Amino acid sequence: MLEDKRSHGLWELSAPPAPPTTVLREQISADVVIVGGGYTGLSAALHLARGGKKVVVLEAIEIGFGASGRNSGFVNAGLWVMPDDLIATLGQTYGNRLIGLLGEAPREVFALTERYGMECQADHRGTYHCAVGASGLKQLQARQAQWSKLGAKVELLSAGDTQARTGTTGYTGSLFDPRAGTIQPLAYARGLAGAAMTEGATIHTGSAVTGLERNGSAWLVRTASGSVSANWLILATDAYSTGVTTSIREEQVHLPYFHVSTAPLGHNIRKTILPHGGAGWDTKTILSGFRLDAEGRLIVGSVGALRGTGLSVHRAWAKRHIRKLFPQLGEFELETEWYGKIGMTPDHLPRLHSYGPNALGFSGYNGRGIAPGTVFGRELARLILGEIDLASMPLPVSEIAIPAFRGLREAYYEVGAQVAHLPIAPA
Ligand SMILES: Cc1cc2nc3c(=O)[nH]c(=O)nc-3n(C[C@H](O)[C@H](O)[C@H](O)COP(=O)(O)OP(=O)(O)OC[C@H]3O[C@@H](n4cnc5c(N)ncnc54)[C@H](O)[C@@H]3O)c2cc1C
Repeated sequence: MLEDKRSHGLWELSAPPAPPTTVLREQISADVVIVGGGYTGLSAALHLARGGKKVVVLEAIEIGFGASGRNSGFVNAGLWVMPDDLIATLGQTYGNRLIGLLGEAPREVFALTERYGMECQADHRGTYHCAVGASGLKQLQARQAQWSKLGAKVELLSAGDTQARTGTTGYTGSLFDPRAGTIQPLAYARGLAGAAMTEGATIHTGSAVTGLERNGSAWLVRTASGSVSANWLILATDAYSTGVTTSIREEQVHLPYFHVSTAPLGHNIRKTILPHGGAGWDTKTILSGFRLDAEGRLIVGSVGALRGTGLSVHRAWAKRHIRKLFPQLGEFELETEWYGKIGMTPDHLPRLHSYGPNALGFSGYNGRGIAPGTVFGRELARLILGEIDLASMPLPVSEIAIPAFRGLREAYYEVGAQVAHLPIAPA
């Protein structure tokens, strides 16, 4: 996209084409106008259109241009935050509601991919949170205890079982979550867009929103060459917010995260890695993850931006890391590389904001937005369709709060990741 091969990397090379869309070049009206063509906006559009609403999505660049087209594709149940901490922050009502909703969220993603026949490499065979050392194992034991208390059937695996399921001896154990799975993220975004259009939604790409105004009891949403008038407005621009939606990005600290992929692995090597499907990531602070795509390419990701000195530091780290985790690969070359921005909030929880009368949006997914974005978009649709009220939403409405020293913290993450990936850094 935008002729930048480090923006969407492998996902752009292997996704089916996006459904055809046009630039908005007229003044139109709708029931709901949605700004942002990622999972949140597209899922809201799909469910609203299914509910009979006239809905228009305005996307600045292309479908899946933001985080939805660049992520690792781990469809996880729940957030990074441990369940007990989540309840401590949100209270029993919202905490339990959110945990319940997100526990079911991967199932919703896979049901949608099936229902609409999306070609997005959907694989519902779980994920492995992998322990590094004794402290990593202790962390996973605590997670397992908290999830089990809530009735989730997550399973703590020994080092031996982890090796058998992942193909690496690098971990002291793992937490297997059968609720989770993987997708090709850009293909899923394009699939959601196609499904929304099949249900009657209109999507305009290359249509950055430049103005948001109240016009009587409606919203007037302007782009450079057109406008949409609608009773309801959804802002779904999250970490990639630009122009009039920039304040949504400003309340987040961006954490850069990159991926590299190998060429398709030979059959014999391929069957040693994640032989039962799924994906893995570790318990380190500067964490890293791994998975295969449908063609058997190994994809590895970690914190860092592929620019400036980061480019060579992270590339070299990725090669060392792959050799260490999967020595069975022998000699290999990296085929693609790409990176994106994860929008972090101070308490690592997403936000539901109100932007005026009949104007709402979720943001701040902290690196867990595939399943949450899908169900949050659906919940916005249900609210607008009158199926639930605001008090039944997954999160309370909060004000935008800009964190202190945002720029400094972002620089710290970018430089810190490079330091952690130097050959002299502790393993
Ligand atoms: C590298 C990386 C790895 C990740 N890995 C995972 C993972 O494995 N699992 C997981 O669950 N989550 C993961 N995430 C998080 C997940 O990708 C996001 O939370 C999710 O994609 C957010 O979806 P969204 O629709 O809210 O926003 P986005 O997908 O970012 O979409 C926002 C859209 O709004 C558009 N936009 C912005 N401003 C305007 C404007 N003014 N007018 C019109 N359009 C505008 C943008 O162009 C963009 O397309 C990862 C994120 C990154 C960056």
